[in-house]
Amino acid sequence: MGVEKKFGKPFGNLNSMKTNFFDDNDGMLEMADGMAKVLSEQPVRKTCKICGSVLDKPLFYSHGLGYIECGSCGHLNSEFEDTDVFASKVYVEDDYSKNYSAQDRAGYEKRLQSIYVPKAEFLQDCLQKENAGKIKILDIGAGCGYFVAAARKLGMDADGIELSQNQVDYGNAMAGEEILTHVGLTGSIDYIRQTDANVISAIGVLEHLIHLDENLDAVRGNQNIRYLYASVPMFSFSTAFEAANQHCYNRHTGGTHTHLFSNESVARMAEKIGFEVAYEWRFGSDINDLYRFLRVSIAKNGNPEFASYFSEKFVPLMDKLQLVLDESEFSSELHFILRRK
Ligand SMILES: [Zn+2]
Repeated sequence: MGVEKKFGKPFGNLNSMKTNFFDDNDGMLEMADGMAKVLSEQPVRKTCKICGSVLDKPLFYSHGLGYIECGSCGHLNSEFEDTDVFASKVYVEDDYSKNYSAQDRAGYEKRLQSIYVPKAEFLQDCLQKENAGKIKILDIGAGCGYFVAAARKLGMDADGIELSQNQVDYGNAMAGEEILTHVGLTGSIDYIRQTDANVISAIGVLEHLIHLDENLDAVRGNQNIRYLYASVPMFSFSTAFEAANQHCYNRHTGGTHTHLFSNESVARMAEKIGFEVAYEWRFGSDINDLYRFLRVSIAKNGNPEFASYFSEKFVPLMDKLQLVLDESEFSSELHFILRRK
């Protein structure tokens, strides 16, 4: 069976959500540089994170790190391994106050509607085409529970597991019910092994799993699981835009992203667990990154007013430009649904 493909998603009001990327470029850059330094102290990566092939020399260097394209599956691997030590140093607990304000609640609701409901709708639409019957989702790395809440809103049965107790507390408070459970560092593996859910979802999670293989093995071993829904960062134009703009914050290739997927590495990952790629939805933020780099550079060069002038011309074109990049199948983010063969 072929892969059903969907392209594009309007940025809409997403630009307004990450203003610190624009206003605090230097602070964000410093944070990412700090993470790169921690990564550079880890063991050299010898084999591809996805297919295990022996890695060659870096294809390029960006923000102090070499990146190696796997000769076999095209996965982009940083030259150093992500390890438990790396994870313990770079994943810092966000600070959530215990007294959530009305502003928190409005922000939560806005993020839920604009970002997570479309992701849940995509899953629901695809599984209807599959005649998958009653859906039960286990969301791993659920964070503040946005995806779980969105899936429930659409009438699907969904629960989440999450490492951060603060995010579990925040997500459950916002949802008004216990939709998230706290698990330890390798707790997700036991959960996946034992779940009676037929769908595992992992939105922006797989790339952060130090023990990715063990998690995938657990999916393979549990026959209840028929589908894996995930979004992952891709080796893409954003990578090149970042490599060309070393004074700008690298959201995509760097920080906690120590490796980036390729179309082939996603397919290999599916194959490894006895699944196949069934549906893809590709919409990146490459143009958003390019726009940010141009704006930051124009302002840094002493022309803050011209940065605003440029924005007025450029912003209305961004959805169209991004769609061109998405359709090339080399853009920064891919949502996919894998089906058990
Ligand atoms: Zn590979």
